[in-house]
Amino acid sequence: MNSYKVAVIGGGAAGLVAAGRCAETGTKTLLLEKNKYLGRKIGITGKGRCNLTTSIASIEDIIAQYPGNGRFLYSAFSQFSNLDTIDFFNSLGLKTVTERGQRVFPASDRARDVVKALEKYAKSSGCEIRPESPVTGISRLPVSGFKITTAKGPIEVEKAILAVGGASYPGTGSTGDGYAWARKMGHTIVPIRPALVPLETSETWVRDLQGLSLRNVKVWLSDSDNILGSEFGEMLFTHFGVSGPVILTLSRIAAAELEKGKQPLIHIDLKPALSPETLDRRIQRDFKKYQRKIIQNALVDLLPQALIPVVLENAEIEREKATHSITREERQSLVETLKDLKLTVSGTRPLSEAIVTAGGVATNEINPRTMESKIISGLYFAGEIIDIDGNTGGFNLQAAFSTGYVAGANAADK
Ligand SMILES: Cc1cc2nc3c(=O)[nH]c(=O)nc-3n(C[C@H](O)[C@H](O)[C@H](O)COP(=O)(O)OP(=O)(O)OC[C@H]3O[C@@H](n4cnc5c(N)ncnc54)[C@H](O)[C@@H]3O)c2cc1C
Repeated sequence: MNSYKVAVIGGGAAGLVAAGRCAETGTKTLLLEKNKYLGRKIGITGKGRCNLTTSIASIEDIIAQYPGNGRFLYSAFSQFSNLDTIDFFNSLGLKTVTERGQRVFPASDRARDVVKALEKYAKSSGCEIRPESPVTGISRLPVSGFKITTAKGPIEVEKAILAVGGASYPGTGSTGDGYAWARKMGHTIVPIRPALVPLETSETWVRDLQGLSLRNVKVWLSDSDNILGSEFGEMLFTHFGVSGPVILTLSRIAAAELEKGKQPLIHIDLKPALSPETLDRRIQRDFKKYQRKIIQNALVDLLPQALIPVVLENAEIEREKATHSITREERQSLVETLKDLKLTVSGTRPLSEAIVTAGGVATNEINPRTMESKIISGLYFAGEIIDIDGNTGGFNLQAAFSTGYVAGANAADK
């Protein structure tokens, strides 16, 4: 028997906050992390910059950014909000900046600095951190408490916080280990599936655009009759289809349609600031300027080079055609294509490539005020293992920080 009261399993965003919060109350706390280094997933967030939270002021508005069980987070956010998160990191010496879309980043632009700050917090709280300690199982002891199985032998504790994350980007250590443990202890696991995931398309021309990022575009999804969702912002072409913030946000709707056996359409308005009439006038000016050139070379002021052949093909205009001989109908078709470039969604990328895992431990089996299991006393959950998922914009890390804080505070000696 060892002397730890609380074991936190998983040294990611939720686990580090939970361990630090628990230990700073004087509770003997042990943090077990599979990897040699803590917070590997945090290190790759926000393209290595880590969009750690949002600066949106109202809890209601923040909750609206969680299509997956946002209501469950109400109490956790009341106890440790996004503004508390900013203060928390600032007090650890990490300066933050707020960017477009109320996204908060470390001023250094380095996600690793967020990990360093969290490590500093956990260590200074007196928590013992054991890296390279993969947990292989957890079970209840006969009277109370838990036996945690590790490669280096079993550990017995009074309380356990499961913060092993979801199942996406398994290379970071989050391999979905916690679901089987929770299920074995009586919890329902809502089927896991990719959320915020890139989309595959039937059209193969996307490959020619691989790496091209479009800013300030309007993108919407439709089935044959209805608009299913619409976003404005940045998107990216890849070798398999499309990605980037607006696509990731729309991916939930696309995935639901695919599940119904449908293939929704992606529509891209490449010039959302211009009405069709204004765009047509603009094109006519360009045509005049480049009247001696072929059409392919007459669109250079309007579009990125790589996009020109794709747009012309979709508008059914011969690339080599002389600009002065483009017909009115062809120009009309060009305007229509620029305002509505279409792609067919054929699938989502796999869970391993999703930014977040939707599904997980059912929220109705967890006390939202404490993060304690309603089924097993002394067992707590924090972070992505829970069936919650948010949009891009710092919401997923915030959920991990808030639930980690609440789990740590409540597992601690009172
Ligand atoms: C590419 C990418 C970019 C992202 N960008 C953002 C962003 O900018 N903003 C944002 O809010 N969210 C972002 N996210 C989502 C965010 O990173 C996660 O939601 C968040 O890290 C979840 O925190 P967590 O602590 O629950 O899990 P994790 O951070 O995944 O931590 C879980 C930890 O548990 C450990 N572990 C797993 N199994 C075991 C075991 N058996 N024994 C011991 N330890 C174990 C893992 O090694 C890992 O360290 C991004 C995700 C990805 C993949």
